Amino acid sequence: MDTSRRIDGFKYDCLLFDMDDTLYPLSTGLNLACRKNIEEYMLKHLHIEESEVPNMCLDLYREYGTTMAGLKALGYEFDNDDFHTYVHGRLPYEKLKPDPVLRNLLISMPQHKIIFTNADQAHAQEVLNRLGLRGCFDDIICFETLNPPNYTDVPTHNHELTWSNSFKEACNKTESGCFKSKTQILCKPSVEAIEAAIQLANVDPSKTLFFDDSARNIASGKAAGLHTVIVGHSDLVPGADHALNSIHNIKEALPKIWEVEGDQQQTIKSPAVETMVLA
Ligand SMILES: [Mg+2]
Repeated sequence: MDTSRRIDGFKYDCLLFDMDDTLYPLSTGLNLACRKNIEEYMLKHLHIEESEVPNMCLDLYREYGTTMAGLKALGYEFDNDDFHTYVHGRLPYEKLKPDPVLRNLLISMPQHKIIFTNADQAHAQEVLNRLGLRGCFDDIICFETLNPPNYTDVPTHNHELTWSNSFKEACNKTESGCFKSKTQILCKPSVEAIEAAIQLANVDPSKTLFFDDSARNIASGKAAGLHTVIVGHSDLVPGADHALNSIHNIKEALPKIWEVEGDQQQTIKSPAVETMVLA
């Protein structure tokens, strides 16, 4: 990460955003469609008994962070890319519409902005494209970032949604296996995954604000030393410092993102943001 971009006087240097159900609402139905695809994959490709699939899918998600991580932990062998292609390839992406209000908000934020998702890079690219948010983030930490096939063969070809050079350097300096969890797959909500993301992004957790719709991810984020915002909830959850019903409410709930602290207090203004409509 280019630390020279840090801005003196702001409470936060970096904003770390979950993507699914955080940058767009749960009501789009993508989450449900994704779960159905995972269940279908378990049935058709892993030949798990049909009556066991729904509960097993949910139980593994709860126990291991993602159903995929749980399946791997149980010893099921399958190709990670095949799995992601199957469960994401047929999602109703057309339900995601461009969000110029959010785009203007993100552009107006002076901090370094990073996506931190358990999903794969192809899904992240598709979602950000559909939401009209390409170019709003400096880096993406995704499945491949924390679980690369090997640390010298990392994806570098996907336009702007690739690892930055600093990310690649950080990974290449990391001893193989350093970030590997007991379940083979490293993902939220493990504190280990969040600490790995903090290390890769080279950010100070005490100057970083973490947005996520998952209460358990928020609890782990707090345990890792981050400031936390639960999104899609009107009330705080354990470990959350702030709660946002919608990411669109960020300016009202967290004005400190735009404010310089101390004697030289000023607010970063963006004409585009002044046209925002609250969701
Ligand atoms: Mg999410």
